[in-house]
Amino acid sequence: MPVIAALRALERATRPYDAEFAAAMRRRWAELPDVARTPGQILGRHGVGCEGTHGVFPKCNLKCTPCYHSRDANQVRVDGPHTHEQITAQMGLLRELRGPRAHTQLIGGEVSLLAPDDHAAALAIMRDHGREPMSFTHGDFDDDYLTRLALGPDGTKRFARLSFAAHFDKFMYGRRGIERPPDEESLNPYRARFAAMFTRLRREHGVRFFLAHNMTVTSGNLHEIARVIRDCHAMGYGMFSFQPAAFLGDERRWKEDFREATPDAVWAEIERGAGTRLQYRVLENGDVRCNRTAYGFYVGRRWYPFLDGDDPRDLRVRDVFFRRFGKMTFTGTPPALLAVRVLRVVARYPSVAVTGLGWLARTVRRVGPLRLVRERMRVRPVTFVMHQFMDADVVAPAWEMMRRGKQATEPGLRETQERLAACHYAMAHPEDGTLVPACVQHAVLDPAENAALRSLLPIVEVSTRPAAQRSCDRRGNHPCA
Ligand code: SF4
Repeated sequence: MPVIAALRALERATRPYDAEFAAAMRRRWAELPDVARTPGQILGRHGVGCEGTHGVFPKCNLKCTPCYHSRDANQVRVDGPHTHEQITAQMGLLRELRGPRAHTQLIGGEVSLLAPDDHAAALAIMRDHGREPMSFTHGDFDDDYLTRLALGPDGTKRFARLSFAAHFDKFMYGRRGIERPPDEESLNPYRARFAAMFTRLRREHGVRFFLAHNMTVTSGNLHEIARVIRDCHAMGYGMFSFQPAAFLGDERRWKEDFREATPDAVWAEIERGAGTRLQYRVLENGDVRCNRTAYGFYVGRRWYPFLDGDDPRDLRVRDVFFRRFGKMTFTGTPPALLAVRVLRVVARYPSVAVTGLGWLARTVRRVGPLRLVRERMRVRPVTFVMHQFMDADVVAPAWEMMRRGKQATEPGLRETQERLAACHYAMAHPEDGTLVPACVQHAVLDPAENAALRSLLPIVEVSTRPAAQRSCDRRGNHPCA
């Protein structure tokens, strides 16, 4: 009997599909507006989209132009217990409304202002709720912080894998060693240093990592995108994400003309950097007016797509994948378990193996077997992304109408409503049980939220300087004068 019970347990554990995840997929698909129900749509077929935290640690110690945080954000104290309490509530609602698995960003102001133990505890809460967390940072912290985050006080690793999104662009002021970057190229040593910390962590402690590189784009650095990609593609980043600036957040930091950095112009520059055309309709995340994504890999200095949108056989691979593997959760599943689940699907639908092997043979031919050998079979998956937030002045009225159940007729507002309805990036409000698009969070809700946090978590200035010196400062005199 114990053997039969064990076999039953094994059968259950290796079932390819999780009924709860499959139900979450169906709900997500049903919620999508028609305009987003495209053949390449991932939402509702293999994922619910991204999630992010809010109202947790809005403070940042760099200054960016533009900055999407409201003007009160930097007056809020970074507080571990508050962060954990908020994250627990937000993750609980996300788990309830969006199902058991998703990618979630630990995002606010600067994540490394959290003490390493508090940061680690926040990641653990997110994992406990089935979320694969990614910490958002400006990347200006040291090895010591990363080690203390990854390892517990007894030196054992807390996580098998860490994910970070690091934001680097020349509009961020105050980075140590390069207060005001003259151009994007001058930041490359900082980009390399950041990635190298994770390589060391993996080498010394066996903690795997995924790194995304984020960059805000305005007319001031549009022409530098291609160079950033060419210079940095082999540093260790698995994703390069570019965000054309939007008029969101603190208006005192809107210094540039953002209009030139249109999605088409930004995508053209990304293509120039990748050295090839990037097809963003093969696989989509929400509305392509918000997100463009190209999944692929580098072999040496050349980038190749996983699927060639001009080849109907590759499009069939995509369709078969959605049909047979779409409801399988890859995120957070141990590789051995995932392999068994995949084998069970193949056993049930053997034609999947034929389709898969055909794709593999075509992909090897596309790259060239000789090139693969020359590069010692080193294949580096790298995804290119463009995410365009919307301006506050269109989000606010469009959202207000949506809350009243009103569909806009004015084309700009109509488009905004469609994009919000297909939003790929949700934030949770446990106080009223709702989810909102991140655009709405930043454009509509952040100012009041941060003003309330400012009272709840005031920053108490503690000066260690002598009183006489402080009074000199208050008069505006140099203390030694
Ligand atoms: S946050 Fe805004 S821009 Fe991003 S996917 Fe959602 S609606 Fe689109």
